[in-house]
Amino acid sequence: MSGGATAPVLLVALGGNALIQKDQAGTIAEQLANLQEPMAQIARLSRNHRLLITHGNGPQVGSLLLQQECCAELPRLPLEILVAQTQGQIGYLIESSLDNQLMALGLELWQPLVSLISYVVVDQDDPAFQHPDKPIGPVLSAGQAAAAPYAVMQTAKGWRRVVASPRPLTIVEKREIRRLIAMDFIVICCGGGGIPVIREGRHFAGVDAVIDKDLASACLAREVGVDIFCMATDVPGVALDYGQPGQRFLRELSLVRARAYLADGQFHPGSMGPKVRAALNFLEAGGQRALICSTQEIEAALAGRAGTHFSKD
Ligand code: ADP
Ligand code: MG
Repeated sequence: MSGGATAPVLLVALGGNALIQKDQAGTIAEQLANLQEPMAQIARLSRNHRLLITHGNGPQVGSLLLQQECCAELPRLPLEILVAQTQGQIGYLIESSLDNQLMALGLELWQPLVSLISYVVVDQDDPAFQHPDKPIGPVLSAGQAAAAPYAVMQTAKGWRRVVASPRPLTIVEKREIRRLIAMDFIVICCGGGGIPVIREGRHFAGVDAVIDKDLASACLAREVGVDIFCMATDVPGVALDYGQPGQRFLRELSLVRARAYLADGQFHPGSMGPKVRAALNFLEAGGQRALICSTQEIEAALAGRAGTHFSKD
């Protein structure tokens, strides 16, 4: 039986990079296999939590861009349309995997699921439009990076294409999401950081960008009233001196230290940086609990046995 009206609201933000693991081609079979373990955990957690699931789309949206660039005959689709496509495709993969896991526990009749196309508002004057820093698509060789007709950047994983990633201001469907949680739905939303839109009078218009899903998740968490914010990714948590000989993962991280390490450049700007910033944003806005862990260890992390936990002092 699902969490019920008094159960804590848990937001799990799933990494787009965790759906396609390092050195995988990114086939649908691989993505479905990678979803098994996190979805089995989320199904068990639905017994005593109300659940929201967000997800990234970096590798997937980059692949869609490459796919269209391979086909000269058809019109190119703008990035906002590709983000919408990834909300559909990844929402479908998550929903069907989670449904199977709920069925395995005999919970499927109790626990309705829905995935929602979501818009996220950004500022058209956001400086990020002049400085693309969000990695998408596959890792490139040095030769491919040098010859690429688009912006590239050296990331923690290697050379990758980068696109503008403006700051999320508000989730357009926040009222609908609140209603769905109150009705005990598991809600999959803000996929790929949300479809980026700017306000034009009373209307919205899509823009060419990919919002970071962790920052969008922090915004969602604040706007719909989340109790626990869990970012699940492809590393065990937050490390100091990441990728260097002295690398060490942290079990606890205070807000004061997190701010200092951010300023010190300990966290890459397009990956761990926004996760730590998202945790800070959430806790500073009154959120109770934020953690970063591996997709394999969501339950262990919630029980305090894995991951990096943010403390307010
Ligand atoms: P996701 O799709 O889960 O958002 P990201 O690639 O955006 O994945 O973020 C996770 C990545 O952050 C890790 O795979 C790692 O390469 C990178 N990273 C950068 N700095 C750190 C750090 N200090 N500690 C841990 N991981 C880090
Ligand atoms: Mg990310």
